[in-house]
Amino acid sequence: MPVPTPDLDAGRRARDLDLLASGHVPDLLVIGGGITGCGVALDAASRGLDVVLVESHDLAFGTSRWSSKLVHGGLRYLAHGDLGVAWESAVERSRLMTAIAQHLLRPLPHVMPLDPDPKQRTLVRAGLRAADALRAAAGTPRRVLPRPRSISASQAQHLVPALGSHGLTGATVHWDGQLVDDARLTVAVARTAAAYGARIVTRASASRVTGSGARVRTEDGAEWDLHARHVIVAAGVWTQDLDPHTPLTTSRGSHALLRPEALGHPRAALTVPVSGERGRYVFALPTLDGPVIAGITDEPVSGPSADVPVAPEADIAWILDHLSTALQRPLTADDVIGSYAGLRPLVGESGGQSTADISRRHLVERRAEGHVVVTGGKLTTYRRMAQDAVDALGVSAPCTTASLPLIGARPSPTGDAGLPRRLVERFGSEAGRVAAYADDDPRLLDPVAEGVPALGVEVVHAVRCEGALDVDDVLERRTRIGMVPSAAERARARVTQIFDGAQ
Ligand SMILES: Cc1cc2nc3c(=O)[nH]c(=O)nc-3n(C[C@H](O)[C@H](O)[C@H](O)COP(=O)(O)OP(=O)(O)OC[C@H]3O[C@@H](n4cnc5c(N)ncnc54)[C@H](O)[C@@H]3O)c2cc1C
Repeated sequence: MPVPTPDLDAGRRARDLDLLASGHVPDLLVIGGGITGCGVALDAASRGLDVVLVESHDLAFGTSRWSSKLVHGGLRYLAHGDLGVAWESAVERSRLMTAIAQHLLRPLPHVMPLDPDPKQRTLVRAGLRAADALRAAAGTPRRVLPRPRSISASQAQHLVPALGSHGLTGATVHWDGQLVDDARLTVAVARTAAAYGARIVTRASASRVTGSGARVRTEDGAEWDLHARHVIVAAGVWTQDLDPHTPLTTSRGSHALLRPEALGHPRAALTVPVSGERGRYVFALPTLDGPVIAGITDEPVSGPSADVPVAPEADIAWILDHLSTALQRPLTADDVIGSYAGLRPLVGESGGQSTADISRRHLVERRAEGHVVVTGGKLTTYRRMAQDAVDALGVSAPCTTASLPLIGARPSPTGDAGLPRRLVERFGSEAGRVAAYADDDPRLLDPVAEGVPALGVEVVHAVRCEGALDVDDVLERRTRIGMVPSAAERARARVTQIFDGAQ
């Protein structure tokens, strides 16, 4: 039998579909190709199970591409008194930053201006000390996440030049993990699962789920009953469509993408408390691609979940208003170059409380029909969620993912010297392989359009190895060019040309 590779492409998908349509019965069917489902596929495949994952659209099509791209250590949960989630987040952050996905993560300093109220200041400092104690207890070295500290007003303005000086007496700095991109983490987990033999089949929807399979329909209309020894549903906010018993509340989180000039090209994130709401903040996060991600709202949503949610103008105005309270110049709509919204799958009912106060714990439950449901949680805790879900199947092989590096995470044997920094930051030890697509056509090392940082070789890699089946998969979920609509417009023709040549 050939050794499986991590590489996903249209040919592998077609072969996997042929096998499944011919009656192959895997050990496990996973439904959903977000971070949770891909994590489950990796956990189970690395324990030796024969795994099939079906995803209605594309990898990271749902909530997993609309996050704030932070790997949180639990400060927010400490503020809500949710110690269990805080601890789990700190442990998973440590694993991701030191062993699993260090190539996709960087430590990001967060500047928080000192509150004028001395009581609040004491509370914030105590929270930061507690979060640092969690960091230490979780085993994250200081060289990975430095100690929080107090800084002067001018040091704060050096890190975030747009900070207003009126009333600024100083600030605190604390550190957390930032992903180069959430969809890239999801694809890396899926490809690592594929390297253990998991069959990752996108453009295939499941319905009529039981403990022994589901009805599967591909986008070209083929349909059959897929039998499996076990089934895990990891369908995020769409879980109730497959399993109406799961108690879920949905909330919308919106972000604005700001021109970096609007904040003076910040070197650190800015965190500003929302007045009158305990433990709630707005933030501005600098990114490697340039735009600053500003967020975040938390609004309950009822009715069917949109495939691609939209950030309403009122959400964006709320973010700009609250962030502006800490700036020299108020932000305006002219500073906004894009926006996005994601839907949070929150476990339980809101019971009249704000959705921001619903716990971010996860749920793993086995249903009477025999399937297991896993939902809730965070991007940060996907690995633990996956472990708990596979444990719930009663599999005897132990979980190994706590220290299992994702594709690209191991240091490259040949080093990174001479490789474009952008490729190293996105592909880790695979950067050399990605750069080599340009050996025959050096233009592939050029950006795909003016003012768009993605390189042509990234498009080739997306098609040949990352399971991109059309140009939108590349623009929207592999390169994330589509987060800024004007950039996608400029890049589309060149990306299409490279896509066609790469197939
Ligand atoms: C605005 C926002 C910001 C966030 N920021 C952070 C953050 O900074 N850090 C953090 O740790 N967490 C963050 N989170 C939480 C995190 O993003 C989510 O918990 C996580 O992405 C959920 O992943 P999932 O795989 O469970 O769901 P999804 O990513 O939604 O995946 C579910 C998948 O199932 C597929 N699917 C649905 N139905 C079917 C079917 N019938 N057949 C086949 N496939 C199906 C969907 O197409 C989808 O791709 C944030 C969430 C939001 C909304």
